[in-house]
Amino acid sequence: MLRYGLGEISQHHPSGQDLLHVFEIQTPWILLHQTIRLVVLDYVEDYANGTIWSTGLLRARFANDFTQLLNRRNVILKRIQEKGRINVSNVQRSHPENHLVEMGVEASINIIQHPEFVSLLKQGTIKRIEQTQSIICEGVRVYNSPDFIHHSERGETLVKLNPFGEIPASRRQRQAALLRLYGGNDSTILQFSLQQRHWNVKKTIPTDAEVNDAMSLVRLDLEQMENLYSLVGKNNNLDKIPLADTYRSCMNCQVRFICPSKDGLERAKAEQFTLMCV
Ligand code: SF4
Repeated sequence: MLRYGLGEISQHHPSGQDLLHVFEIQTPWILLHQTIRLVVLDYVEDYANGTIWSTGLLRARFANDFTQLLNRRNVILKRIQEKGRINVSNVQRSHPENHLVEMGVEASINIIQHPEFVSLLKQGTIKRIEQTQSIICEGVRVYNSPDFIHHSERGETLVKLNPFGEIPASRRQRQAALLRLYGGNDSTILQFSLQQRHWNVKKTIPTDAEVNDAMSLVRLDLEQMENLYSLVGKNNNLDKIPLADTYRSCMNCQVRFICPSKDGLERAKAEQFTLMCV
């Protein structure tokens, strides 16, 4: 709700635009993992064009990209703090720390040396896909693009990197089903998930039933979101937004610092319950 629409639909409200920008202030931890993705994809693109990076180049690219993302975050943070319309006083400026850079470099090296990854690079052709590339399915615009598509005589493989940790099996299955929309019915889906600097890989060919189930959920989500947007209304009444069921969902949430649950999920729920009873 917060991340994917509220700022957009409330852009004529005084804090609507700020909400849009505030989502760009991610934690250094999240930026670190975004950098891993970006660097690995640049590596793949260069590899496909015949340039193979040395470890030194990978380290330099990583440090540079991570620093750029942090600098951009710091600039946005400063701007929002100066405007003072949204309270982000609990967010600090950040600088690239060496141990984070080393951690990111290690995770990046681990995937480009992963046997499944190496076998993709060694044969066939690879096309990088922009994350913003959407696909229309049954009248719904779906954003769930693979990171790259690989073709060889063995067929088509859609590859997705999940650098933010292992995702539950049911979510991974839904992600695979929606990824299939970008390929053919017999495309193989390869999902790499980063877990403590190592990558687990899952290979699947989703069935039609799985794709249909995933699309049903997307449609239900859309309905719920549209209902909620109308409840929130022009006054940006964020109390109408439901909070997570469990604090675990909040642990890696990208909008936690502006969510009422930043001071504790149970406390935020109690406050919201009180508001609803008024
Ligand atoms: S911090 Fe928790 S409750 Fe708030 S938006 Fe994120 S997941 Fe939902």
